[in-house]
Amino acid sequence: MRVRSEYIVEFSGLKNGSHNYEWSLGDAFFDGFNRDGFQNTKLAVQARMDKDETMLVFHLSLNGTLQFECDRCLSPFNYMLQGNKALVFKLNGTENKEEDEDLFVLESAAYQLDMAPHLNDLVQVALPMKRLCQMNEGQSMECDPEMLSKLKTYSASQDESVDIDPRWESLKQLKSDEN
Ligand SMILES: [Zn+2]
Repeated sequence: MRVRSEYIVEFSGLKNGSHNYEWSLGDAFFDGFNRDGFQNTKLAVQARMDKDETMLVFHLSLNGTLQFECDRCLSPFNYMLQGNKALVFKLNGTENKEEDEDLFVLESAAYQLDMAPHLNDLVQVALPMKRLCQMNEGQSMECDPEMLSKLKTYSASQDESVDIDPRWESLKQLKSDEN
């Protein structure tokens, strides 16, 4: 995957202490990641990184909106997404590795970090399992009744087509030939 410079933190030249970052994530950010059925993404991540000789600690705060399709009636609605996470990167390790979900080791030669995969993780964890009109940001929405009845008709006709499965038809034919 292409590395995008705006999500790179070059930490080696930074003084010990706190450093602030802000990243915007639009639809294009998720190219190369799994966007999982959302669009019109307007997310921002505020970050404070505390640096000392031994580690980098990131405090990430996610905020913004994105658009889902309702699971029931397929209408688009806006959803407010929020999330928080702390990430620790230990410095001066012998290799780059993930020790735990939120704990990483960086080899001593490392001088920069690509935050994009970590920002993607932050978003993925915050996504809701169920997506319904009632979750519309600000004002709850009702499902589109016309669409619901169309979908009901559609799924009913799908059931009918199971009954006229051609294999079943030929089996019935076979049975009647036997008699
Ligand atoms: Zn709906």
